[in-house]
Amino acid sequence: MARIDSPSKHPAIKQVMRLLVWHDPVLHHHIKHEFCGVCDDRHKQDSRLFSHSFHRRDNVICWARNAFRELSHAQIAGICLHEIGHQMTGPMPGATEYESEKAADLAVLREFGIEIIYAKPRLIQTVDLDQIQKAMLERR
Ligand SMILES: [Zn+2]
Ligand SMILES: [Zn+2]
Repeated sequence: MARIDSPSKHPAIKQVMRLLVWHDPVLHHHIKHEFCGVCDDRHKQDSRLFSHSFHRRDNVICWARNAFRELSHAQIAGICLHEIGHQMTGPMPGATEYESEKAADLAVLREFGIEIIYAKPRLIQTVDLDQIQKAMLERR
């Protein structure tokens, strides 16, 4: 796709944010998506890292620029939902990485009824796009 100047202009992120607005307008208003040089560097070290939360400010989801070159719509939507899960739980000081990762995915499952899948080979968060459509229709 054409080069984008902000992660929030990517169609997969727009789709997830449209879903979020129905579920939690306050959180939707609060969250910002930004490109992040630290995220770019971490992606170079670990090819499955494309995003993180709570780095710049608590409400910012940071993205590596490569996410939008390397990943499918379903993967970007999966990562975006996972990070929204982190936004829902908030920072979890004292928790292990495993615990906070699990908590983020569980928050997404509870709020949207969407299961985040870790698809091989890179175990990158992925969603079934039909589940997003369904969650759109079944907005609570
Ligand atoms: Zn960052
Ligand atoms: Zn995570």
